[in-house]
Amino acid sequence: MSTQGFATRSIHAGAKPDPTTGARATPIYQTTSYVFDDVDHAAALFGLKQFGNIYTRITNPTTAVLEERVASLEGGTAAVAVASGHAAQVLALHALLTPGDEFIAARQLYGGSINQFTHSFKSFGWNVVWADIGDIASFERAVSPKTKAIFVESIANPGGLITDIAAIAAVAQKAGVPLIVDNTFATPYLIRPFEHGADIVVHSLTKFLGGHGNSIGGIVVDGGKFDWLKSGRYPFLTEPRPEYEGLVIASVFGNFSFAIAIRVLGLRDLGAAISPFNSFLILTGIETLPLRMQRHSDNALAVAKHLAAHPKVTWVSYAGLAGDKYHAAQRRYAPKGAGAVFTFGVKGGYDAGIAVVKGVKLFSHLANVGDTRSLIIHPASTTHRQVATELKAAAGAAPDVVRLSIGLEDVDDLIADLDQALATV
Ligand SMILES: *Cc1c(COP(=O)(O)O)cnc(C)c1O
Repeated sequence: MSTQGFATRSIHAGAKPDPTTGARATPIYQTTSYVFDDVDHAAALFGLKQFGNIYTRITNPTTAVLEERVASLEGGTAAVAVASGHAAQVLALHALLTPGDEFIAARQLYGGSINQFTHSFKSFGWNVVWADIGDIASFERAVSPKTKAIFVESIANPGGLITDIAAIAAVAQKAGVPLIVDNTFATPYLIRPFEHGADIVVHSLTKFLGGHGNSIGGIVVDGGKFDWLKSGRYPFLTEPRPEYEGLVIASVFGNFSFAIAIRVLGLRDLGAAISPFNSFLILTGIETLPLRMQRHSDNALAVAKHLAAHPKVTWVSYAGLAGDKYHAAQRRYAPKGAGAVFTFGVKGGYDAGIAVVKGVKLFSHLANVGDTRSLIIHPASTTHRQVATELKAAAGAAPDVVRLSIGLEDVDDLIADLDQALATV
């Protein structure tokens, strides 16, 4: 791993001046396919005997820079960028589960992930078993002989809860399954899950890594530590592949086998490729990641403190606040800051929550997080609408909850906007 600092790698990892033109910014290689040197070269590429570009569904030079950069920032061995955060989740679990298998997931998840796990994955025969990040023993209780993976968010949606990754990694290790951490809300600037025992990291690049609310993307990062051959429970990585002359991925590709399997089997067949243009925009975003994440977190803490003292606010869920249930975990896992996303409750419940969303002028009312702009939403009526009523409260999306994603504006302007909106309640 590079010894360069995080900010340096945010700008330089994976990139070098273009060898033919000298272009310093990474060019957008907007091409579907690549000319082979000769027939032997073509055969070697198709047989996985040699690395190289064949077709942009599988590899692309612009996307390759993005992959190397995120792998470097996370401290992983390799990464595969894909069309969206949801595609990253599909591809990661597709490599691990066969029909009839189970995976354990924290209840405190991005609303779209709850839907994906509950409905679409069920139709693949992948059965989710829910656990609670506030109760580590619930993960242990959920383990069964059919368990193939554990999935949590590092900073959990929507309340900004900080997951005890090391404790859940210990459960995963004992069960002999990989721990997958969705690190979208933290980014590697705030939390690096591999340093706490995670095996695989997934991201929605759409959010803080891209950072500007302009492109959808996702990525799977291989931590390189899980021993697939020793486990023997993951045929996707350990069975001879007939299409590659009987090659066993985990025998040939060592500590980046998972990433290779995702690329040459998952991405090849499921096809959720990212556009090189999106890779370019997200790479540009990552160059300023350390500056942005610090400002997001500092602004969010100031807004959370202000709301906590506001007479019309009943509670604030932000791990950066000294009295918060997850404050000790924040100091351990995310000492630089607790991120941009948190929730609060307005006196008066559902109608009051809706009134605040209606009243804001600077905050944008939309279903996203991790934009430069500050965002607001009422989860119970929107992102968590399809979540079953009894799961809503457990997921942190009760009727009175308002979620904020604090942007990079002047914090005084954000506070003034919330104050005038709360005055309308
Ligand atoms: C947005 C998001 C996703 C899904 O990512 P898309 O890029 O929208 O597909 C998954 N997890 C978290 C935490 C997210 O915020």
